[in-house]
Amino acid sequence: MSVLSAKYMHDEAAAFAHVEAMLWADGPVCPHCGVVDSAYPLTGVRTKPSAKNPEGKERHGLWKCRECRKQFTVRKGTIFEESHLPLHLWLQAIHLMVSSKKGISSHQLHRVLGITYKSAWFLTHRIRECMRDGALAGFGGNGGIVEVDETFIGKEPGVKKAKNSRGGSHKMKMLTLLDRDTKRTKSIVVDDLTKATLIPILQENIAREAYVMTDEAKQYQNIGAGKVFDAHGWTNHSAGQYVDYDDAEIHTNTVEGFYSIFKRGMKGVYQHCGKQHLHRYAAEFDFRYNNRVANGVDDFERGQMALRGVVGKRLTYRQAY
Ligand SMILES: [Zn+2]
Repeated sequence: MSVLSAKYMHDEAAAFAHVEAMLWADGPVCPHCGVVDSAYPLTGVRTKPSAKNPEGKERHGLWKCRECRKQFTVRKGTIFEESHLPLHLWLQAIHLMVSSKKGISSHQLHRVLGITYKSAWFLTHRIRECMRDGALAGFGGNGGIVEVDETFIGKEPGVKKAKNSRGGSHKMKMLTLLDRDTKRTKSIVVDDLTKATLIPILQENIAREAYVMTDEAKQYQNIGAGKVFDAHGWTNHSAGQYVDYDDAEIHTNTVEGFYSIFKRGMKGVYQHCGKQHLHRYAAEFDFRYNNRVANGVDDFERGQMALRGVVGKRLTYRQAY
């Protein structure tokens, strides 16, 4: 059976029940006073009559707290708050975003879900926030291998392409770490690729005992042998060497593979990405990569994981634009 045919994807009451089960494992949590499992459902409540709905619309998922006597729904305090879109459409959108390898554009979502482009745009950026994983433990613990690489994408705001330049100084820059044991990535948007910028980020995210793999770029020179990390291996890409001739473990091919998915997605789906949004796209691709089928996560479970990320990830229009 298709996940999209599940009742909570179409029925608003079922959508509320689904999200409540997901976020309130111990019973409803009152967002006003914080009390758990001391609220009762309010059924049959309708919104005020309007020209469009003379009888008012049914209010789904409404609860009343026994302690503070205030009303709430599970949308409160999550990315679903302040959005007038039905919850079941949110669930469809989350599923579409987590299950398509290269992502889904706001334009496509606008057509598929029959919502305005502006709503679709806002929706995709909020869902992307849910995929951000700030609490990733250090990569390369226990001496594991971490591949490090950078990529150029789009256009750096305010920087003109220099004549005859072959580098990427006029493009936006992203750094990606890939733990070869856990097969997880973490991508970070950076302003430049200097040693002063990159090394502190590596130190913040990679365990000291790690075995770090890079290319020959000079900002990565002298970071092994206990100076920054226990060990450092590199290959000489400019000389056409992608795997060390003596040690096949030394390469950054796995992270290059991640970049090829990212680039195909960004090219085909997200054509004009502003720098202020790039970190959310990066999080989206990390999320799908880290929770991919090869890591034992299917489309359904990936949707559930994104859903768990909805709490405390509100994004207002002001931040978004
Ligand atoms: Zn309360």
